Amino acid sequence: MTTAFSHRACYVNFAEHLQNAWNPNLYYPGAPNQWSAEDWRGFFRMLQAFGFNVFEYWLPPTLMDPAALAGSAVHAGFARQMRDVSQIAHETGLRIKFIVAVNTIGPQWYFACPHDPTDHQLILDLWRHWLRELPETDIVGIFPGDPGGCNRNGCTHETFVDLALEICGIIQHEIPRVVVEVGTWGTPFSGWGDDLISPPGWDGGFKQLAQQKLPASAFAPIWNGGFDRAAVAMEYFFKRLPQFPADAMVAINLGFSPDADATMGGDARPWAREIAKHRAVTTWDYSVAEGELVLYPHWRLPRLAARRREERAAAPYAGGMSYTMSPKLNLLTLYAAGKLFQDPAADPDGLSRAFCTAVFGEEHGVLGELFEAFEVIPGWGHYPRRKWSRPVLRAVYREIVERLEAADVSRCGLPLFPDPETYRQDLLWFARAFLEMAGDKPDRDRIRREYWRRTFAIYDSIPMSVDERADQAARKFADTLREDVYGGVTL
Ligand SMILES: [Zn+2]
Repeated sequence: MTTAFSHRACYVNFAEHLQNAWNPNLYYPGAPNQWSAEDWRGFFRMLQAFGFNVFEYWLPPTLMDPAALAGSAVHAGFARQMRDVSQIAHETGLRIKFIVAVNTIGPQWYFACPHDPTDHQLILDLWRHWLRELPETDIVGIFPGDPGGCNRNGCTHETFVDLALEICGIIQHEIPRVVVEVGTWGTPFSGWGDDLISPPGWDGGFKQLAQQKLPASAFAPIWNGGFDRAAVAMEYFFKRLPQFPADAMVAINLGFSPDADATMGGDARPWAREIAKHRAVTTWDYSVAEGELVLYPHWRLPRLAARRREERAAAPYAGGMSYTMSPKLNLLTLYAAGKLFQDPAADPDGLSRAFCTAVFGEEHGVLGELFEAFEVIPGWGHYPRRKWSRPVLRAVYREIVERLEAADVSRCGLPLFPDPETYRQDLLWFARAFLEMAGDKPDRDRIRREYWRRTFAIYDSIPMSVDERADQAARKFADTLREDVYGGVTL
C-alpha cells in the first residue's frame, strides 16, 4: 500500500442545474429529494467507511443572492439544515468544506463585477453572510467561476486573485480556524478577463452570455485561455502567493483543460511542483469520476486510478476531491474513489470486484467487471478503456440483469446508503434499459419518459435552472446505442 493522500474530499454538487432523484435537495421546500438527518448520517458513514475524510459542497449562486441578506426563509432554511448536516459530518469523523464561485450571484447567475463598487460590496456582504450562517465550516474553497468571472470595467485574471485575497481576509476574520483552498479552475481562473467571450454590451447575466453566437474556435463562453494566458495568470498568482494564509491550499490539476489534460492552458505539473514548495496543493479533477447531466451508473475506474498514480508521481499533492451529482446511485465509484485516495496504487479492477463481492455476494463478484459495459454514453470525461460490439453488449447486459435479479443483498458487507436493496433495484432498471436499447426495437420514447420520471421529476415542481440541460440529458440517455457508435468507436 502506498501512502494515503491526507485531503480526501467527496464533492457532492447539488447546484440548481444538477438536481435529480439521486442528489439531495436542500433549497426547494415542498419539492422531492429532501434528505432526513438519518439519510445524511447513513451517507456520511458510507463515505467514512470508503476512506473519505471531507464532505464538500458548492454553495450555489441561488443561495449567493441578495435575498439571503434580506433574511429569506429559503436561505435561512438552507443554513439551518446545513448546520445540522455539518454537525452530523463532524460526529461521523468528516470535515466540512464549501466552495463558492467567487462572484456569481442569484438564480440567474449574474457575474458581479468587482470593479463596480455596488457589485463589489454585494460580493463581500454575501461572503460575510454565509460565513456567519455556517460557523461549523472547516475548509472554504474560493473558486474563480464556471459559472463566474468578469471582463467588464477592466477585470482580468489579476482581479480574481486580488478578490480572492480580499475574501481570505474576511474568512480569517469570521472563522479564524478555517483553512482556505484557492481554486485555479480553468485555463486557469476561468471566466476572468480574456478567458471569457462576451457579447457586445454584455450585462453580466448568464443568459445573454450563453445565447451569443460563439466563434467556431471557441470552447464555450469561458475556458478559452490558451497556453500564454495560463502562464501570465499563474505568474501573477505566484507573485501574490506569499500574501495568502500560510495554511492555504491551492487546487491545481495535472493539466489546464476541463479534463485536466495538457491541452488548452497546457501542462500544469511544473506549477503544481513550484507552488507545493510554498503551500499545500490539491486537485479538483472534476470529470474523472463522473460527467454532468446524463446520470447512469458510471465505471471510470481505470482512469480514476491512473490519475491518482499520475498525481502521486507529478508533485507532492496533499489530495483532492472526487465529484458526484448522484451520491445515491454511483456507490461503486464512490467506493473506488475513496479507496484510491487511501491507496493510489490499488488495482481498479480488483476494487470493482471487491465491492461487488461485498454487496452482491461471492458468486456475483464478476459484476465488478461486467459493470464496465454501462460506460457507453459519450459525455464530459468519457474515455472508455474498452470497445464493445452490440451483440457482446447485449449478452453482458443480459447477464447483469440475471445476476442482479438473483443476488441476495441481505448480507451486504458494506454500510451502503441508500440501502443495498434500493441500490440493486436502481441498477436493475438501468441494466434493463441498456439491454432494451442494445436490442432491435427499443421503445425510446417510453425510456425517455421513464428516465425523466425516475431522475428529473423534481423539475416538474421547481423552476428549470438558467442552465436548461436536464431535458437534453433525458433525450441523450434515451438515445444510448442508437447509432452504431459507442465505446468511442464506429462499428
Ligand atoms: Zn468586472
